[in-house]
Amino acid sequence: MPNPTVCLTVDFDAVSPWLHMGDFGDSPVQRSRGRFGAEVGAPRVLDVLDRHDVPSTWFIPGHTIDSFPEPCQRAVDEGHEVGHHGWSHTQPGEYESREAERADLLRGVESIKGLTGSEPDGYRSPSWDFSANTVSLLADLGFEWSSSGMAREFEPYELTEEHAPPDGPYEVGEPVGITELPVSWQRDDYPALAYSGGHAFSDETAVFDHWRRQFDWMYEHVDGGIFVMTVHPQVIGRAPRPAMLSELIEHAAGKPGVEFARMGDVV
Ligand SMILES: [Zn+2]
Repeated sequence: MPNPTVCLTVDFDAVSPWLHMGDFGDSPVQRSRGRFGAEVGAPRVLDVLDRHDVPSTWFIPGHTIDSFPEPCQRAVDEGHEVGHHGWSHTQPGEYESREAERADLLRGVESIKGLTGSEPDGYRSPSWDFSANTVSLLADLGFEWSSSGMAREFEPYELTEEHAPPDGPYEVGEPVGITELPVSWQRDDYPALAYSGGHAFSDETAVFDHWRRQFDWMYEHVDGGIFVMTVHPQVIGRAPRPAMLSELIEHAAGKPGVEFARMGDVV
């Protein structure tokens, strides 16, 4: 029995990336993509999850919690887990100091405490990137797990304080006590389906077929595999994708022994 687990993860970025990342300028139209995610996309995703009665993990920037409390509260009320995703959706490597990154992390913790009543155990970095300080900050602040790295495909591993001098050998380093549930750009709706930086989005049928075949591969080849799927309400929430997400859930749930779980429960 392959004993597989599906972790559906929802990166509820809303307006924050359009404010805190890249060179989008002061653009109400870019921000409207985030508004769509909060006002239309998130309720559609929650409807799909509710219909199939599957748990999920929502990584929510504090900026989203403070700006759009209603869909965040609905996610909590319907049993979904909330993980840390920065207060602002700033790529960690962009912080000018360890203190600035730490301050944003602490502000994000406060927003989540206000929403759920407790501090988050898990973290996913904005843009799936770490600064040189991120791992030690997460360890200092007591995070138990992360979902941002790519050193494995379907198996958890331990985060380490690595040593990576450009002029010497790379060393993985010692574990810091944080379990990593790895992500993959191949199982993320954003690069495949969002218009960004002049790149056209892909044919949806091909993308969902690709995800289905990845799941089937894991089911056949990996004992105890964890299928981490990442979606964004502002991307997956656009027609007809909610129906396609629903079909993907049905496909996975239709295989014997498959469980859907929140990341914290898996850890
Ligand atoms: Zn994000």
